[in-house]
Amino acid sequence: MHIPSLIEKKRDGGQLETAEISELIAAYASGAVPDYQMSAFAMAVFFRGMSDAETADLTASMRDSGRVFRWPTGSPPKVDKHSTGGVGDKVSLVLAPLLACDSLWVPMVSGRGLGITGGTLDKLESIPGFNVHLDEAACLRQIEKIGVFMVGQTEDFCPADKRLYALRDVTATVPSRPLIIASIMSKKLAESLDRLVLDVKFGSGAFMKTRGEAELLAAGLASAGEGNGVRTSFLLSPMDEPLGRAVGNALEVREAVETLLGSGPEDLVAITLDLAAAVSDSPRDVLARRLHDGSAWWKFLALVEAQGGDPRVFGDWDLFHPAPVIRPFPAPHDGMIVRMDAGRIGGAAVQLGAGRHKTSDAINPAVGFSGIRKIGERVSQGEPLLWIHAASAADAEAAARAVHFEVR
Ligand code: URA
Repeated sequence: MHIPSLIEKKRDGGQLETAEISELIAAYASGAVPDYQMSAFAMAVFFRGMSDAETADLTASMRDSGRVFRWPTGSPPKVDKHSTGGVGDKVSLVLAPLLACDSLWVPMVSGRGLGITGGTLDKLESIPGFNVHLDEAACLRQIEKIGVFMVGQTEDFCPADKRLYALRDVTATVPSRPLIIASIMSKKLAESLDRLVLDVKFGSGAFMKTRGEAELLAAGLASAGEGNGVRTSFLLSPMDEPLGRAVGNALEVREAVETLLGSGPEDLVAITLDLAAAVSDSPRDVLARRLHDGSAWWKFLALVEAQGGDPRVFGDWDLFHPAPVIRPFPAPHDGMIVRMDAGRIGGAAVQLGAGRHKTSDAINPAVGFSGIRKIGERVSQGEPLLWIHAASAADAEAAARAVHFEVR
């Protein structure tokens, strides 16, 4: 295969054949195609786009660049959900054990936070001892026993995506719809799922800023899933305020635990049940009951214990990553909250140390925001609109300057 001709074809708006795409991705994954040629290809795709058929081929080739989960014949249906990421989005922590209460398998391969959106792995790792690095044999043993695992992407899982994503990050080619679709769906398809539900978020705290952009992305993701034999549905959800009332790793784990114990915030419970109902064998009311009768909570404890986590922290929140400085952010006057900026809250959380600017940055599990008041709620002057959890008084002060609520 002559790579410059292939880049030229895409640069000039041509349609690539299945074999051209699969050879290119296989050669890139093996190191035979250098990053400079792949960068040129990614930029050609950025400007010229890809047809549905090309996107499906790219997705399948990236899936096949590494190990694909093989499940025993006759095993229960495999289900998962993917969120395009938002501020305070801790849905996976509740949804995975909730789904595993049915006789379904939930093989969840999650990511880390990057930019203003948090990552499930970072949240799980705030639980002392929790191990997100399981090999395939350990994953299989665990899912056979308790129906669920929550792990990170290993070196041999979609390696082409791992390399290409890092390259896109430094070549201004992340926001290309076909590249996003292939990146997300290759990883989900490598889980060899039967059903997938997508939570595609839009708004100031999401990757897609408008509903229209989110709709196009959702349709493309769903078509890549369906085209590869996975029953795929999606939900479009606004992200103008954080999900729930907590942002930050340990703070979000605490809120997820409260939700598993039946006292979660309304918006988090609603979206978790909507997403779960889309892939579950049980109706929404049965799923809702499992958040109240202890079933989902016991499944979560089983998951934490199976992956080496210490569940004793859930018995004493004061010992669970307390931040050195915790201070309120007061309402300027009486009134109703009419607007807040989830993007700015997410950005302020990253500044506090809850997220990272580049993949090698360390995160601080203790910091973030709690007690976030929601749009439509009435507040009195001086009442906290949220609580800031910071490593220092100076950090807390900077966060207070960054967040913004409109109270009328
Ligand atoms: N998440 C991914 O895994 N890939 C993208 O391209 C964007 C979001």
